[in-house]
Amino acid sequence: MTLSEEAYFDLETVVGPENISQEPAVLDSYCCHATNGGIPRQGLGVDIWWKRADAIVLPGSTKEVQQIVNICNHHGIKFKAHSTGQLPVGFAQSKTNVITIDLRRMNRIIEINEQFMYALIEPYVTQAELFIETIKHGMCPNMIDAGASISPLASVTSVLGNGDSSITRSMNARNPLAVEWVLPTGEILRLGSPNTPNAGWFSGDGPGPSLRGTMRGGLGLLGSRGIFTKVAMKLYPWHGPKKLVTGGHAPWWEVKEWPLSELVIFKWDDYKNEADALYLIGEAEIFDSLGRLSTTKFEATIAESKGEWASIRRWNIFGELFPKGGWFGQIISINQEHLDYCKSVLKRILDQTDGKIVKIEDINVPEGTKINNPEQFAWRCKQIYLQLMLFKDYTLKVCEMPMAGTFGPLPAMYYSNIDTCFKLISKYHIPIKSKYQKNGTILDDGPDGIWATIEENGHMMQFMNFTRIERKDPNADSKGLGEESMVKAFQDGYLPYTPMPPIERILLINKYQRKLNEKLNPYKTAERSSLLGQGGFSPGSGGGGMQKMIDRFLRGRPNKKENKGT
Ligand SMILES: Cc1cc2nc3c(=O)[nH]c(=O)nc-3n(C[C@H](O)[C@H](O)[C@H](O)COP(=O)(O)OP(=O)(O)OC[C@H]3O[C@@H](n4cnc5c(N)ncnc54)[C@H](O)[C@@H]3O)c2cc1C
Repeated sequence: MTLSEEAYFDLETVVGPENISQEPAVLDSYCCHATNGGIPRQGLGVDIWWKRADAIVLPGSTKEVQQIVNICNHHGIKFKAHSTGQLPVGFAQSKTNVITIDLRRMNRIIEINEQFMYALIEPYVTQAELFIETIKHGMCPNMIDAGASISPLASVTSVLGNGDSSITRSMNARNPLAVEWVLPTGEILRLGSPNTPNAGWFSGDGPGPSLRGTMRGGLGLLGSRGIFTKVAMKLYPWHGPKKLVTGGHAPWWEVKEWPLSELVIFKWDDYKNEADALYLIGEAEIFDSLGRLSTTKFEATIAESKGEWASIRRWNIFGELFPKGGWFGQIISINQEHLDYCKSVLKRILDQTDGKIVKIEDINVPEGTKINNPEQFAWRCKQIYLQLMLFKDYTLKVCEMPMAGTFGPLPAMYYSNIDTCFKLISKYHIPIKSKYQKNGTILDDGPDGIWATIEENGHMMQFMNFTRIERKDPNADSKGLGEESMVKAFQDGYLPYTPMPPIERILLINKYQRKLNEKLNPYKTAERSSLLGQGGFSPGSGGGGMQKMIDRFLRGRPNKKENKGT
């Protein structure tokens, strides 16, 4: 711990003694990441324990955030913004002289604007809260699949932003409007309309050039460019009731009035047909939400305990039903005619592309758990509708059950047109995963564990291949899964998230980013993060497992020992 007494005193003066801590137990609760449990075993250089911050500070206002940043600059302390902390890149990344700024006291929905369809929020508003409050006004936010408890502010300003609802509500890179931003220099910048008298927060651009690209870009800059304290998040129409849940306990809810809607499960036996159909589905604009569902995710979503999940896994009925994955789509309609229209369009697309609808009542559930009775099974499936499509409260449950947050074969997650995604899935993901399933390194949950979403009814898809490292043989080397796929994909020109530009362009981008960082973060106090953790890769990251692997390949000297696989 290197924070000086003087610096601690200055920080305490701003937030008060009850809002700053150096207690070891408190510090540790900000550096252990449960849902990444499987990643260390995958050998990607990522640990379940992150670095310990020197102190945790809880500001209660933008003014306090600004004062804290100024103190950090004065004492040369690094800082990292932490909204709800679901992703460990919100934890301290340096070993020493770093504080975590936990924004939980800034938790207000300041305004829900029906005229311009936005909600003005602070960092610790969760997406479930925002959903519940905005549906009362006939609107709703894009709900990312990271879970009910995450911060929409963090998502729209700083990190990723995809979910099943992205098919209609876009990726969150496109959902921030006006923003309040404490720059690493300590200045407060308001992007867009709020500085124009009486204009409100409806626009993130102008007057003058837009800085939204500088603020986050595609993936988000993970807190490395200061702290966002308010954002006006774009909202979309909600055609369901103003209140959904009337009772129950997570994850099983009681609902008296459902939206006029249809949950449809469907699948293809062939990736080419699947890709063709997805383009048509996008063009037809029939779904409110659409997500790809692997066998394990389905099993974990309907289970209520790890034991129950294990029984469902042993039945393998979903493995047999979805050998090539499946999709869950939710149509929400304004009237019966519209609902019928959407269903008939879907049927026509499925007929054209050899797709099949899977009816819940046709699934033959074997005996052995509470859900073997068809009524209970149908009820659980209906709950999937709430968990998967609306509240997103399935995510952490599912991660604690079978998936345990491992990334699977690389590219770890990919964002491109639908055809390219399926090309990568069939070239790297399915064969490499199958190989490691056969040799007992990973859980055998069927060949296809691909989670995916589609964006803006268009041609862009984002996917991840969730995989659980489960060594049947304790000596099996799970490192190979990540490394083998990484090497293959890298040699063919793919990075973990995007196609790889030519080396000259990477150098150019890095140079540009470096210059931008020098200008915006002159004292180097806003900490950088890497999307895949201490060992992961992201532009300008400090290095680690994957970065070193990439460096080796750029130098043309693959390290045979580390690439041996199992
Ligand atoms: C199991 C799992 C599933 C996930 N699924 C998805 C998914 O489906 N879609 C998706 O888009 N993402 C997903 N994520 C990624 C990520 O968790 C979310 O985007 C995220 O949760 C954002 O909200 P948060 O409150 O947890 O952010 P935090 O974890 O608090 O922060 C995330 C990053 O943003 C920065 N940050 C947070 N708040 C601020 C702020 N106010 N100002 C500046 N920087 C800030 C942090 O420094 C950190 O680098 C997933 C992560 C996990 C672990």
